[in-house]
Amino acid sequence: HDKDIATPSRTNAILKKYHLTMKKSLGQNFLVEPNILTKMVAAAGIDKNTNAIEIGPGIGALTERLAREAKKVVAFEVDRRLAPILKTELAEYDNIEIIFQDILQANVPQVIEEHFEPADRLVVAANLPYYITTPIIMNFIETDLPIDTFVMMMQKEVAQRMTAKPGTKAFGSLTIAIDYYTEAEIAFIVPKTVFVPQPNVDSAILKLQRRAEPKVKVTDEKFFFDLVRAGFNQRRKTLWNNLQSRYGKTEEVKAALTAGLEEAGIEPSKRAEALSIEQFAALANALVKYLD
Ligand code: SAM
Repeated sequence: HDKDIATPSRTNAILKKYHLTMKKSLGQNFLVEPNILTKMVAAAGIDKNTNAIEIGPGIGALTERLAREAKKVVAFEVDRRLAPILKTELAEYDNIEIIFQDILQANVPQVIEEHFEPADRLVVAANLPYYITTPIIMNFIETDLPIDTFVMMMQKEVAQRMTAKPGTKAFGSLTIAIDYYTEAEIAFIVPKTVFVPQPNVDSAILKLQRRAEPKVKVTDEKFFFDLVRAGFNQRRKTLWNNLQSRYGKTEEVKAALTAGLEEAGIEPSKRAEALSIEQFAALANALVKYLD
């Protein structure tokens, strides 16, 4: 082939050849701009010593580039209609494995063990199906997998929430969950014009680098994340009100909340969005002694 799959002419030719109609319900918007792929591969630091996991190869735009630049690619795709397309259009590459399975159902640790050498570096690179961006990412980062870097395309607003700073509107429990496990940054913004069909929203490439240790030390992770979610439950309400709604309005709970907030040095009248992850950790570690 003289043209990349990620070009308007080749993509349109493939769609026509296989009579493929894209499914909106599966988030099928195909990338038709090779420069975006160049920048994604660079952001992930992919070379011939790096293996890649891809989520949602579609008709193979990113898969093709990964096969050229990486050692080996394993891609998860839920839409079986794409099997003959990927088999034919990517036939010249012998380092691609496509697994036709829903990524949320897949046994990723087992796939990693079966397909990759433990000594090789492993990254995730993907143009994600947007309707399940958050569950996909949370599943990956909550599981202790030998993956150091994630470079993923998603809706711009979601990438902004995942990288927000305290005190901003986008800052919330999702930001804290991402920050707990990874260092997150927006690598670059992607206009909607580089997809077929064009989505309604702009996109961004989010880069996540797994931390060796979680950013903060918490004595009970489950309690910490539950507290964070409770704190943000009604964003306009104070911490005091949100925590009472979650843990109860009894005198006992009030005394516990007062003591915990005091110990953590946090004003009850503050809103969750004003707290740093370190303050949430201090509050969780203080409160867990009284409330759990
Ligand atoms: N990688 C291609 C590209 O960049 O042009 C396609 C990206 S498209 C935004 C998302 C892809 O994810 C589609 O191919 C879709 O079928 C696939 N997909 C949707 N839900 C999925 C799931 N639960 N598991 C695996 N793949 C899924």
